[in-house]
Amino acid sequence: MRRSKYLLNTLKETPKEAVVISHQLMLRTCMIKQLASGIYTYMPFAVRSIRKIERIIRQELDRVGCIELLMPSVQPADLWNESGRWKNYGKELLRMKDRKENEFCYGPTHEEVVTDVVRRELRSYKELPLNLYQIQTKFRDEVRPRFGLMRGREFIMKDAYSFDVDEETCDASYWLMYEAYKRIFSRCGLNFRPVEADSGLIGGDYTHEFHVLANSGEDEILSCNQCDYAANVERCEVRQPAAFSGPELDKPRRVATPDAKTIEEVSNLLGVQPSQCVKALLYKTENEPVLAFIRGDRTLNETALRNALGVPELELLNEGDAREVGLVPGFVGPINAPDGLSLWVDPEVLAIEASVVGANAPDAHFTHVHPSHFANYQVTSLRQAFAGDPCPRCDEGVLASWRGIEVGQVFKLKTKYSESMNASYLDEQGHSKPMVMGCYGIGVTRTMAAAIEQNHDDAGIIWPVQIAPFHVTLLSLDVGSDEVDGAAETVYQALTDRGVEVLYDDTKGRPGFKFKDADLLGIPIQLVFGKRSLNQGLVDLKMRGTGEKRSVALAECVDETIAALRQQGWEHH
Ligand code: ATP
Ligand code: MG
Repeated sequence: MRRSKYLLNTLKETPKEAVVISHQLMLRTCMIKQLASGIYTYMPFAVRSIRKIERIIRQELDRVGCIELLMPSVQPADLWNESGRWKNYGKELLRMKDRKENEFCYGPTHEEVVTDVVRRELRSYKELPLNLYQIQTKFRDEVRPRFGLMRGREFIMKDAYSFDVDEETCDASYWLMYEAYKRIFSRCGLNFRPVEADSGLIGGDYTHEFHVLANSGEDEILSCNQCDYAANVERCEVRQPAAFSGPELDKPRRVATPDAKTIEEVSNLLGVQPSQCVKALLYKTENEPVLAFIRGDRTLNETALRNALGVPELELLNEGDAREVGLVPGFVGPINAPDGLSLWVDPEVLAIEASVVGANAPDAHFTHVHPSHFANYQVTSLRQAFAGDPCPRCDEGVLASWRGIEVGQVFKLKTKYSESMNASYLDEQGHSKPMVMGCYGIGVTRTMAAAIEQNHDDAGIIWPVQIAPFHVTLLSLDVGSDEVDGAAETVYQALTDRGVEVLYDDTKGRPGFKFKDADLLGIPIQLVFGKRSLNQGLVDLKMRGTGEKRSVALAECVDETIAALRQQGWEHH
């Protein structure tokens, strides 16, 4: 591709609206143009990378027997009523009406449509397992679209859906996809981790997210430094201590704690450690207020509480709400709590020999509280795990914390859709059974953004070669000189003939500008053609990643370039 004929207007300045690096760099390298909030045109330089990610995905999915199809992005409400999601999906679903007033939505995901396809096509156990996938534009009306392609409203996703006869074969389909995902993200040249994730209400134990490690990631993930255990922090298990089983030292003592409401204020006033104090948090489910207790120095894991309660939503209540249910904000505790509250206690709290809790009365706390003084409560693990915690799986390991960008997820749906939508097959005995399903997503455009979040420096992008828009950029410093034009042209042709994708900067510009521009674009290898070097029969070869520069003989520069690309993992097809 000749730069003079290409559509690639780079920007020197960082646009103000962009806060994360991938968004900034995508705007500066003319990869995306915003059309409306969270909706972007993918410009030519971006499309080349998107197509490469898609190609890797297709190859790896085809390899494990998945079959590609392409479903409509506009979907009738009727189907969503069958699964119950027309009501439950909420505002992320973009709904619309056609001229006959029939209701439709723009697909945020395709469980309904694919289940409809399969229930109409499949009859027998002999036709299973089946795994169908597509790569398609999705729309989710996100509350806060932001960070460019990281959280758009319109984005490209690969979604796959597996259908099996039973849980056991569904597991096999699941792990096949898990392995395929590992190969996909490895081949994209990314540093990533598969982690255990929360499956909400439907999924049982089975879901993994794939995270690209990058400081800007929205998720915290924890992984063991000794074994394979890794989990999203919302899902991460905690090794809990046993409850304190010794006798009580004393009866709870009521002490005056005027205006001491926070853990810090109470611990300072009473001269105890925050770890001896008990923190109370008030939540509300759809049906009832819930009081949760954790150690004063810990953070509550809302996902754990939500799962313990078996509810889809939880709301943290404020002081006004607390008063309404009879609590005294700042002085809430497990003793003498008002009726009608369900009490949940983290095991660590019960491991404290003598704790400090709110007295459920203004300006007062109890000290010397023994686990036996807690009444009418349920125990469940509620505190969030953190770096330095012992691994919940192995005996030696310690958890380390990372920031991650979720680029993919594999999920066991079981029979949620096949039952509600009646997708069944006949087994060997001729009995009708619901198919057991899994679903598997990869955010294609988010993967591209994550690649940039992970691979950049102050000068610009550093593309992993496998998903780089071009492999090599030729910089001509003396456009118009016959000698330089001739040599660059020859090398351009020769590399192209060998399957190397080359961006040939044949524009007239100052060398300093061209170097900066090439660094910004981040193409893995730069070949520099200038009069001075060429007089000695030399071309400069620079690796964008390491910054390493060397002069190579013109006659050898094609072979040298190809060798360097191979070293970085270039796969030529
Ligand atoms: P998130 O938790 O980030 O909102 P999700 O868990 O709702 O994502 P899934 O339904 O698992 O997303 O979708 C599969 C994949 O699609 C995600 O792993 C992610 O890579 C991508 N994706 C989801 N939402 C967006 C978005 N708004 N913009 C870009 N990619 C997205
Ligand atoms: Mg997800």
